[in-house]
Amino acid sequence: MDNPELGLISKFEYDQLDICGIKVYFCKDRSNITISIEDAKTVLSIIPEKHRQEIPRIYFVNYFCENHEVKGRHLAGLNYIVIYPHAADKLKQVLFHETGHVLWDRLLTPEQRIKFYYCMLAEAPITADQNDVLARHVFILENFANSYWFVLDNIFDSKKYPKIHEFILSIF
Ligand SMILES: [Zn+2]
Repeated sequence: MDNPELGLISKFEYDQLDICGIKVYFCKDRSNITISIEDAKTVLSIIPEKHRQEIPRIYFVNYFCENHEVKGRHLAGLNYIVIYPHAADKLKQVLFHETGHVLWDRLLTPEQRIKFYYCMLAEAPITADQNDVLARHVFILENFANSYWFVLDNIFDSKKYPKIHEFILSIF
């Protein structure tokens, strides 16, 4: 799989750890990293084991994303999660959101993805351009990842979005 992010990752050396059963690669050069291994352990332990098993790798890298606002990324296809050095203050948000992307790819069946799409249609207007198929797809993916994060973080508004809430609970 040809992903430019892999080129960046491979410029550094990593300590290979097992955290809550997940293969975690922590950059040996931690000059920019403000996240401790303990922090990572605390957040990852909240993710159900069934979901942790779907995450092939997490990289805690020492370089920043070109867009400094971005604190984490999910590598499509590979399903690796990349956490940038300054994610400490939003570690739960970033790890839960990116895990949501992994679960969409690896855990959900095509039928479940369609079901989520219909939950969205029923409760959350899809604001992406009607004619832009890719934008609509990304909109659904991002909303799924956020819904997963909100449910796991106990901040989901289940009164406003009961169908989406019920769907997310169904994958636990
Ligand atoms: Zn996302």
